[in-house]
Amino acid sequence: MPRAPKISPSAASRKPGLPTDLAALRARIAAATLPALPAQRTERARRVLSAWLDSAGADGQDVDTVLRALSSGAAACQIGDALRAQTLENPPEVVRNAACASGCAFCCILTGPDGGTITGAEARALHTALAPFAGQPDGRAWHPKACPALDPETRTCRSYAARPTICRSYLSTDAEACRTNSEGGSVQGGGVLGSHLDYLAVHAMVRAALAGAVKVHSYALRDVAVAAVTGQDARTALEQARHPVRTLGDACTALAGAAKLG
Ligand code: SF4
Ligand code: SF4
Repeated sequence: MPRAPKISPSAASRKPGLPTDLAALRARIAAATLPALPAQRTERARRVLSAWLDSAGADGQDVDTVLRALSSGAAACQIGDALRAQTLENPPEVVRNAACASGCAFCCILTGPDGGTITGAEARALHTALAPFAGQPDGRAWHPKACPALDPETRTCRSYAARPTICRSYLSTDAEACRTNSEGGSVQGGGVLGSHLDYLAVHAMVRAALAGAVKVHSYALRDVAVAAVTGQDARTALEQARHPVRTLGDACTALAGAAKLG
């Protein structure tokens, strides 16, 4: 009687529809659409994501490692970081004239609905960085809408090394404009670098490319930070901070229509 072929645990537990190799991933990325963004922005996201995939393949990464990096948002962060670094190599005037300084924290007063859109990789990193501060006074002791990651005395970020892409991308030439906007005003002076839209667009494209195979989420920065400083475990924090599906596309649309720096 012929012996049954051996099936490895990972192969046996592989979900139907999951891409089995990098070529299948490339095909999904080539076919992905982003109705939330203009065609030019969609094609730019496809180009930088495909280049990231080529580089992962050249590094010898297997499909499961690549899928984890894509679905967690680590890939979008790497791409955003690389593009921001490119901008900063030859900084435009707005970057050269930035008024940003340690302890200047009006931009950490989270006036939007949820403090900003972040990926799962960023949410986990932020939670890990803030968990040791659970129960201590946080930024809200300085300002009721401040990010809980903020130190209320020094007004510096207590999760600086783990701060999300949106925090790394925001700058201003006018701290007074930031103060005014933190009080509900709407004056020019601050904004995000263009690379931030690339990061969001890439994460949205990953979601579109992996639809039906792998869930790709986004999260609310403020909710993750609040959960971390109130002592919630990471799993509960991320469950509670997870965005509704449409939020990522809405964030892309809003940012595509806004002025960007650099
Ligand atoms: S973005 Fe505005 S509030 Fe934030 S550090 Fe720069 S100048 Fe200060
Ligand atoms: S994570 Fe840090 S840099 Fe970002 S909003 Fe919060 S305090 Fe500010």
